[in-house]
Amino acid sequence: MPGWEAIIGLEVHARLLTRTKLFCACETAFGAPANTRVCPVCLGYPGALPVLNEAAVELAAGVALATGCAVHQESVFARKNYFYPDLPKGYQISQFDRPLATGGYLDITTREGARRVRIHRIHIEEDAGKLIHDATGGASQDTSLVDLNRAGTPLIEIVSDPDLRSSEEALAYLTRLRQVVMYCDACDGNMEEGSLRCDANVSVRRDGEPLGTRSEVKNLNSFRFLAKAVDFEIERQIALLETGGTVVQETRLFDPATGETRAMRSKEEAHDYRYLPEPDLPPLVVSAAALDRVKARLPEMPAPRAERYRRDYGLSLEDSETLVATRELAEYFERTLAAAASPRAAANWVRNEVVGLCNQKKTPLSSFLVTPGMLGELIRMIDSGEISGKAAKDAFEEMADSGEAPHAIVERRGLSQLSDPEAIREIVERVVASNDAQVALYRAGKTGLFGHFVGQVMKASRGRANPEIANRLLREILDRDGS
Ligand SMILES: [Zn+2]
Repeated sequence: MPGWEAIIGLEVHARLLTRTKLFCACETAFGAPANTRVCPVCLGYPGALPVLNEAAVELAAGVALATGCAVHQESVFARKNYFYPDLPKGYQISQFDRPLATGGYLDITTREGARRVRIHRIHIEEDAGKLIHDATGGASQDTSLVDLNRAGTPLIEIVSDPDLRSSEEALAYLTRLRQVVMYCDACDGNMEEGSLRCDANVSVRRDGEPLGTRSEVKNLNSFRFLAKAVDFEIERQIALLETGGTVVQETRLFDPATGETRAMRSKEEAHDYRYLPEPDLPPLVVSAAALDRVKARLPEMPAPRAERYRRDYGLSLEDSETLVATRELAEYFERTLAAAASPRAAANWVRNEVVGLCNQKKTPLSSFLVTPGMLGELIRMIDSGEISGKAAKDAFEEMADSGEAPHAIVERRGLSQLSDPEAIREIVERVVASNDAQVALYRAGKTGLFGHFVGQVMKASRGRANPEIANRLLREILDRDGS
C-alpha cells in the first residue's frame, strides 16, 4: 500500500536429522506409537542428567557456516522456564544470551529485486512434546492427550533480522533457508510433518517513520500459510492505524480455514521466562578443528551454485534456480552435463522432462530409472543428428519405464533419424507428386499449406526424416518447379 512499509522478520525452527534426541539416547523416529521413545531424561525425572548429542552440534554448526554465521567457540545452554503440559521438566533447554552462532545472511531475489537478509542468530534447543486435543473423537471433548516422543528432539532456531518487506520476500527467504538446511543434511525440510516451522514477526510503518509495534504469528507450517498470514497482518495493522487504533504487541495464531490471524496471548518478553544458565551442562565448546571438519563436509550451497550455472553455462535465473531446488536435482543436472556437453540442452531436459516425468510417475529422483549417464547419451544422439527431438522424447519415456539404454531402444524401434539427403529427397518428391491439388494451390500463393507437406513427409518417413533437411528440400522442390 502506498505510503506504508511492512517490516518482517522470521524465526524458523528446523528439526535436526539426528538418530537420537538432544540430551538422551532415545530415538527421534517420527510416527512411532505414543510415548514409546522416552526415558527418565526426556521425561524430566528428578536426578536424570542431560548429555549433549555431538551429532546435533555438528549439524547446527553446518547450517551456521552455510549461512555465513560466525560459530562461537563457546556458547551456553540456558533454561527457559514456562509451564505447559507438553514440557515435563517445566523448562526447555535452549540457548539465550550466548547462542551457538550469530551474524550470517542469505541473499534472495524476487520481482522486487535482490536483497541480503541478515541472520541475527542460530541457537540449539530441544523440542517439546505434542498435545493431541479431542483425540477421543468427540466422546470427551475436554480431554487432551500428551505424547512425549518429540520431547527432547533437537532443533535449531534461525532468527532473521527484520529485513524482509513483503510476503513475497518472506517466501523467497524461507525457500532459500529450507534449501540450505536440506543441502546440509541437517533437516528434511518437511513442513507438513513439522520438521520446519516458521513464526513471522510483522509490523508496519508510514514511510520514513521509526519501527512500529509488531505482532508475532505462530506456527506457520506451509509456504502458503506464511504468505497469507503475513499479508493478512499487514492489511490488518494498516487498517487499524489508519482508523486511529494502535497495534498491540501480541502473539497471534493463523487460522487456515478463514485465512485470518487472531490474538492468542500478549507477547511475552525474555524476562517472563526467567532464563538461567543450565547448571547440568558445561558451556558448549566448538574447536576450530571440529569446525574445519564440518566445513569440509558441506556441499556447494544453492545460491553460489545457481550463480555458477548462470555465469559458466549461460542459464537463465529461472532455470538455474529450478535446478538447484534440491541438492539431488543439482547433482543429477551436473552429472548429465558431464555426459552430454551441452549445458542448455542438459538444463532443458532435466528441468522439463526429468522433473515432469518424476512428478507424473510420482517417482523420487533417487529411484528414477533414467540415469544422468543415459540422459547424457540421449542428448548426444540428438546433437549428432542421430535421432530427432521427437524420437528422443519417445525413447526417454521408454527408458523411464524399462531402464534400457537409449541406443538399444533407438535400434530396436528404428527411431534413428534419416539424415541422408538423397533418401529424404525421394520421399519429398513422392509426396509432391501425389498431392497435385495442394501443390497447385501452394504455387498459386497459398503458402500456408507448407506445414501440410511437412506433415506428409514426416508421415511417409514414419517420423524419422531430419526436419531441417526435409524443410529445405521441400522448399527447393515446391518453389523451383513452380517458377
Ligand atoms: Zn529420552
